[in-house]
Amino acid sequence: MTETLAPVRPGKLIINGEKVDAASGRTFTTVNPATEEPICAVAEAGPEDVERAVTAARAAFDAGPWGRMRPAERQRILFRLGDLILEHGDELARLETLDNGKPIFESRQIDVPMAANCFHYFAGWATKLAGETLPVSPAFFTYTLREPLGVVGAIVPWNFPMIMVGWKAAPALAAGNTVVLKPAELTPLTAIRIAELALEAGVPPGVFNVLPGKGSIAGEAMVKHPGVDKITFTGSTEVGKHIMKTAADTVKKVTLELGGKSPNIVFADADLDAAVKGATTGIYYGKGEVCAAGSRLLVESSVHDEFVAKLAERAKKLQPADPLDPKTRLGALVSEAQMKKVLGYVETGTREGARLAAGGARQPVNGKGWFVQATVLDGVENRMRVAQEEIFGPVLAVIRFDDADDAVRKANDIPYGLAAGVWTRDVKKAHAVARRIQAGTVWVNAYNFYDAGMPFGGTKASGFGRDLGPESLREYTQVKSVWINLE
Ligand code: NDP
Repeated sequence: MTETLAPVRPGKLIINGEKVDAASGRTFTTVNPATEEPICAVAEAGPEDVERAVTAARAAFDAGPWGRMRPAERQRILFRLGDLILEHGDELARLETLDNGKPIFESRQIDVPMAANCFHYFAGWATKLAGETLPVSPAFFTYTLREPLGVVGAIVPWNFPMIMVGWKAAPALAAGNTVVLKPAELTPLTAIRIAELALEAGVPPGVFNVLPGKGSIAGEAMVKHPGVDKITFTGSTEVGKHIMKTAADTVKKVTLELGGKSPNIVFADADLDAAVKGATTGIYYGKGEVCAAGSRLLVESSVHDEFVAKLAERAKKLQPADPLDPKTRLGALVSEAQMKKVLGYVETGTREGARLAAGGARQPVNGKGWFVQATVLDGVENRMRVAQEEIFGPVLAVIRFDDADDAVRKANDIPYGLAAGVWTRDVKKAHAVARRIQAGTVWVNAYNFYDAGMPFGGTKASGFGRDLGPESLREYTQVKSVWINLE
């Protein structure tokens, strides 16, 4: 209990196994979105720190123990890190909620177990990454080795700071790479703490470095650095495009997960009460600051009015409240800028002709905080900006459709392709629609389910490459072909 109430210590950079200040001595302040009060000062990495971290990661990869260690030893250490995350669950959940504004219920019951799950799951893979023996010619013994890439630069966003450490660092480390991770400037605290726990678990110095700082400075320097072999990025499409262009100069591999505007499709034959719940969690979980949020709700016309009435009733009951209260289910948006962006979209939507069926306004808690009501915009047309652009907040755009063809056409008529939901009791329709949707993930009669073992990523403007699952290990390994002349 004392642990969870302790004041938050100033955040440091983690370079080569040490907690250090920035070379420039600069710091920034991280702020609690629910109270608008400062949490603590955090060291702000600059190009010199990137240089130090990449040098340490390079040395740890090229000559250090990580790649040469028996895979079973890497497995043991990463599994231990998963255990330590669980053991420090209360502390990490509190840090995440203070930094991000998400309900402690989510931080404690979802984010902590998911982050730990990533280290436990990928620890197991450390001993199972294998090449193949390929019979090319009797004159040769030919085989492949599956090898790590080297130094992986991970640039992660503010919506799931702790989970993203698991999604990116766990598979990269399990495969034998070393990592330099830059958390989002708005939410650096849990990544720093997990890096400390990694040292406690036995991850050698230089193998996992964390550099809080600005994307435009520290992030940019990582992407340009010739000593970084790969960038794995989650964030906005604009920054993703910029990273891809910049990485081209040093021929870096990139994985980009760039958000979406995912359709959640409700057919008239669905279990409508279950679908109402699914539509609600699909958009309001994580305050809607979720890349895969079901932010476009497509409802079959014959049940539209009944469905929207139930949905609006549920949304109105979901009141913003103190994120540290375990009963809270709707927290504060991450920043004032994000809140203004979200409220700006509500205004745009109503100006474009949408009808406000629930919410639509800021609602401070105890007079403070960047809270926005659970919002439903009904009567949205697919061409409207609120239907096409990522709002990244608790705002649902409801669009009608006539039949399955119309639903699929509207679902795919968007630059993004990250995720989708399909609600129906007709199993044939569920499979058929799941195949026709352009998205990296389709949930049927469910929404927002994730597991370390199931690949996640996008198509179209949502990016390419996959986090999680066996598929993600391809992103952090390469194949070497070996020919042994037998004659
Ligand atoms: P960004 O894409 O700017 O941030 C994501 C990460 O990239 C952060 O760590 C950021 O650092 C870093 N970054 C920013 N610029 C650069 C750069 N030039 N080179 C390298 N790294 C960089 O997202 P925002 O925080 O600005 O959010 C804007 C919008 O993006 C949201 O409203 C939402 O629509 C979308 N988004 C999508 C996410 C997803 O899960 N796909 C997650 C977050 C946002 P820093 O924090 O210091 O700027």
